[in-house]
Amino acid sequence: MPELPEVETVKNTLHELVHGKTISDVKIIREKNVENNPEEFKNALIGATITHFERVGKFIIFHFDKDIVLISHLRMEGKYFLKSKNDKIGKHDLVVFYFSDDTCLMYNDTRRFGMLKVASIFNYKNEPPLSNVGPDPFMMSDASRLEKAFKNKSIAIKTALLDQSIMSGLGNIYVDEVLFATAIHPETPAKLIKRQQLEWILKESKRILGEACNAGGTTIKSYHPKEGVSGNFQYALKVYGKKDKPCPRCGHLMRKIFVNGRGTTFCPKCQKNIDLPYVVGVTGPIGSGKSEACKYLESLGFLYLSADKIVHDLYKDKKVQDGIRKIIPELKIKNDDIDREFLKNYLLDNPNKKRRLEKYVHSKVEEVFAKTIKSTPKSKSIVLEVPLLFESRIDDYCDDTLFIDISDKKQIENLIDRKEDIKKALKLNQNFNYQENKKKATYVIKNDKNIAHLNKELSAIFSYK
Ligand SMILES: [Zn+2]
Repeated sequence: MPELPEVETVKNTLHELVHGKTISDVKIIREKNVENNPEEFKNALIGATITHFERVGKFIIFHFDKDIVLISHLRMEGKYFLKSKNDKIGKHDLVVFYFSDDTCLMYNDTRRFGMLKVASIFNYKNEPPLSNVGPDPFMMSDASRLEKAFKNKSIAIKTALLDQSIMSGLGNIYVDEVLFATAIHPETPAKLIKRQQLEWILKESKRILGEACNAGGTTIKSYHPKEGVSGNFQYALKVYGKKDKPCPRCGHLMRKIFVNGRGTTFCPKCQKNIDLPYVVGVTGPIGSGKSEACKYLESLGFLYLSADKIVHDLYKDKKVQDGIRKIIPELKIKNDDIDREFLKNYLLDNPNKKRRLEKYVHSKVEEVFAKTIKSTPKSKSIVLEVPLLFESRIDDYCDDTLFIDISDKKQIENLIDRKEDIKKALKLNQNFNYQENKKKATYVIKNDKNIAHLNKELSAIFSYK
């Protein structure tokens, strides 16, 4: 769908191509795309000479030497072609404007959502559809209009910025770019965005849309009369369509979510949702003392969520068992629960199945985490214990991450204390990327002494979070 910069470019190109031309006839092939009575539409336009063009939001306005305007919206796929009068009318040409010279302008629309309307020059901005279009960023000197409109709105900032009646011009692509540039999470409630941030949003909207308009203007110079004036040239986008690519600012992998049904790409690290509670994710090798660390944080008032505990509960869920059986048909159920000894031994022998199972289970755990984080009051802090915190990308939900480190010697001692089969435990844990995870974590605590020492270190970091 063309956005403001593309529409601006189409407008400028139309001006270059057809201004000064006089309409001698109009052929409406598909009446549904014309909002006026077809005869009135034709009669108003025949004999009119195009003087200039105007853009209002994503509408293109044709001006004439008469008291009328032609309002055009391209919607999904609308395009204009300047052709010779003798050219054949194509399957997707919906309206043809013939000029007094040998040319004609064809409105072509494969999706057929576009609209055309003739209106009076004296009133066109005060009646639909233009009366519902708010000013675009270039028309706004400050963000007072946004502040007033968003003051009591709990809807996501992305949704609020897409509302063209408040501010026009930001579509799905550029709104993601603006929110990335201003480091705002797209789901942040609009009312929580402070005036200073709104000013920043306005400034970045002008910069990004302006640069994109210039980029479009450059590309269109290669315009060829046989091609449509369509505006399918893209500004160097930083986030849109970059799901799972590294963030250009911090290198973290970008994520795609849906905000009010609209696909949205953002960086979970640079764009934190300030409406959610503080979350710390705890990871570390097996037997390093993650649970002890989490229990201590729980005693400080944190809500403690353990991935292992959630998995334990999920394994009793019939639907999850069916899901796992799709990966492991041999799965054994004992007393309505998955036979863990069987599963453990099976995964040791089938590393590929282990990876697939982990992917499936992580997505289920992630759902539980996401739901719990959203429903927890902002005043409460949360600690997530996740052995594969970074591998599962659950660190995306964390404000900070904590790596509990341990020496090999102490790790073996702990596993013996827990009566674990050391060989099996270490083998099951071999996917854990020790060096890389340690580097990624916000905090690292070495847990080689006793629990009092661990708690003291934790207290120094987290007692005021
Ligand atoms: Zn980032």
